[in-house]
Amino acid sequence: MSTAITVGVLALQGAFYEHLKLLNLAATQISPNVPSNWRFLEVRTPGELDICDALIIPGGESTAISLVAARSGLLEPLRDFVKLYRKPTWGTCAGLILLAESANRTKQGGQELIGGLDVRVNRNHFGRQTESFQASLDLPFLRESGAVGSSSSFPGVFIRAPVVEKILLFVEEDVQVEEQKREATVVAPSRHTKDPAARKAMSDHVEVLGKLPGRAARLADKGLSIETEEEAGDIVAVRQGNVFGTSFHPELTENPRIHAWWLQQVEDAVSKLREAVHQTE
Ligand code: GLN
Repeated sequence: MSTAITVGVLALQGAFYEHLKLLNLAATQISPNVPSNWRFLEVRTPGELDICDALIIPGGESTAISLVAARSGLLEPLRDFVKLYRKPTWGTCAGLILLAESANRTKQGGQELIGGLDVRVNRNHFGRQTESFQASLDLPFLRESGAVGSSSSFPGVFIRAPVVEKILLFVEEDVQVEEQKREATVVAPSRHTKDPAARKAMSDHVEVLGKLPGRAARLADKGLSIETEEEAGDIVAVRQGNVFGTSFHPELTENPRIHAWWLQQVEDAVSKLREAVHQTE
């Protein structure tokens, strides 16, 4: 790596400090000799976003984050960052909601999405009674990546968490129209016709990287039923190209393995993006 990589954490509301702490820890693990190759930065303005190679959108309250982002003139720059330039971005919990192209159970008039992941999320999926819980997750991608240990289990912290309830298929503008018809559902503003370059940049498929097992079975045991759609299930981690989202909060654990894995993904993506820019110069 020749030039430092700057990773921003959106610091408008929520658990941004905790992400910065784990990023610093993860950097010393993956680059023990040159941790200075990484620069970590709190992002509150378009100018700060501009110098970032990658970004984390933390957990917190998606409505509040989106309102403050709108007031700070950050919504459109964030959409360009994620959807057009396709710079590596990771959203945790509220961050995942903001990165979804569509979200259910939103407050009326209270929420604008950034988009970038062709999924619909269901906010507060686990309801009020079980607002918070911890569950051991099996995340095979952690095992695949050598530098961060060999186990695939990870402590999942869920706090009024969303899940990915549907992977959206992109068919011209139908997705937007179909999604908009749903009650209390918001969609990210369409860039399909407005900005074909963004759509092209988003052409990667959505990959499911983690599921929360057993919920459907447990509910069925209690005689309760849950509504499922074909693609439904408790999907709690997804990736579409450079955009990654988790329902849970790795930053609220002491465990830097997902941060270390993600920084490795960032390193790969940034060198590819820099190479592409170099070639067009
Ligand atoms: N339920 C919250 C929201 O809708 C997300 C909770 C969280 O980030 N822990 O924004």
